[in-house]
Amino acid sequence: MPLTLYDTWSRALRAFKPIRANHVGLYCCGPTVYDHAHIGNLRTYVFEDVLRRVLTLNGYIVRHVVNITDVGHLVSDADEGEDKMEKGSRRTGESAWAIAERYTSAFMDDWRALNLLEPAVWCRATDHIAEQIDFIDGLERNGYTYTTTDGVYFDTSRQDDYGYLARLDAAGLHAGKRIALGEKRHATDFALWKFSPPGATRQMEWDSPWGRGFPGWHIECSAMSAKYLGPWFDIHCGGEDHIAVHHSNEIAQTQARHRTRLANFWMHGHFLTLDTGKMSKSGGDFVRLRTLSERGIDPLAYRYLCLSAHYRSSLRFNDAALNAAQAALERLRRTYAQWPEGGTPDANCMARFKAEVDLDLNLPRALAVLWDVVRSELPAATRRATVDRLDAVLGLGLADWRDDTATIPAEVALLAQERVKAREARRWSEADRLRDALRAAGWHVEDSLSGQVLRPLDKPR
Ligand code: AMP
Ligand code: ZN
Repeated sequence: MPLTLYDTWSRALRAFKPIRANHVGLYCCGPTVYDHAHIGNLRTYVFEDVLRRVLTLNGYIVRHVVNITDVGHLVSDADEGEDKMEKGSRRTGESAWAIAERYTSAFMDDWRALNLLEPAVWCRATDHIAEQIDFIDGLERNGYTYTTTDGVYFDTSRQDDYGYLARLDAAGLHAGKRIALGEKRHATDFALWKFSPPGATRQMEWDSPWGRGFPGWHIECSAMSAKYLGPWFDIHCGGEDHIAVHHSNEIAQTQARHRTRLANFWMHGHFLTLDTGKMSKSGGDFVRLRTLSERGIDPLAYRYLCLSAHYRSSLRFNDAALNAAQAALERLRRTYAQWPEGGTPDANCMARFKAEVDLDLNLPRALAVLWDVVRSELPAATRRATVDRLDAVLGLGLADWRDDTATIPAEVALLAQERVKAREARRWSEADRLRDALRAAGWHVEDSLSGQVLRPLDKPR
């Protein structure tokens, strides 16, 4: 059975075939760094990481590219309102550049804590302004743009199949929606370049042939994916919210400039939802990975939870599900740790596992195969060798796990918990005092963005 993936473009499962033999170009829309990533965002990156690992399992050499949106993401999809970076800057009093730096680095901490593989390329929008200007220039030369008093826009009416990915009825949208268009000619038109307000200086602005300003949100992905993967590559991913606007606009731009629909496969992860509804960066219900760590949940237990649901179904997040995931991971780790090395993987189990992941990443069923191996009558060394292979796809880091908690004495654990509480309540001097007390007891405490980590002083990381 060949690797089969669900392609949003064709709304069907398709056998995967690379454009260039043995190689896969994979582009994943990355974070907007005006705030922390929430665990919903992270669910999408876990799905993409597993996809990459499955491609590798199938023998492909994957070139994985992830962008960092550090400019140009407007508050509304209608190209109105402020750039989110500048808004974040007003909220915190820091510069937009400092905010981008801080949240990018926090994002990288989450990335590592979830055992996500490093992409071949991380690309920041602000490092690719020239490429974006060049791309817009090409669109202008091909006749797809118009200029208003506040920016340069893409004219979506020039494409008959605009919005096909989302099965958008652009004509119906134009006729049926009574929304204020401003100077935009059609509801679906979008900004390629926005001008700095007259007389004002923005923190992030650049000169362009059209005037000083900053790029619209969508152009960075068309420009940077073309640079790093070419204008026609294998797989483009993101969360399901990107289908209607962001990815439809990326496709429109690339079609207008390079005559391709950008990627051969379009794959979208469904949302993580809360019992109270949707999790969003702008909404109030915002759970970070660090929030979980501080409640004693291992980031990899969250990864396990993500694996337990198919990426094309929404995942309802709640404490019971999370605790069950943590308990399962814990059991898995402790069992695995007792198995000796030196075995050979069981071919039959490997084949069963591969059949599940090859069918559009059926991770819940792949996890069931993993538990079958754990509970099987196979020799322990065989089970270990097999699980090692499966974990190369699951990414639970079983071989790297060390049982540190068992050796933390109760009084040290108590001090550590007091310190978490002190920090939550912003009682900094008390937190420092507790850090010293922990040090005196022989323990080093480190504050990573995914939580507090305790390590014996004599044991380096
Ligand atoms: P953003 O930083 O808002 O651009 O989002 C980063 C990634 O997270 C994108 O691929 C989004 O589609 C995805 N995303 C946003 N919200 C959720 C959610 N609640 N569940 C899963 N993925 C999400
Ligand atoms: Zn994108």
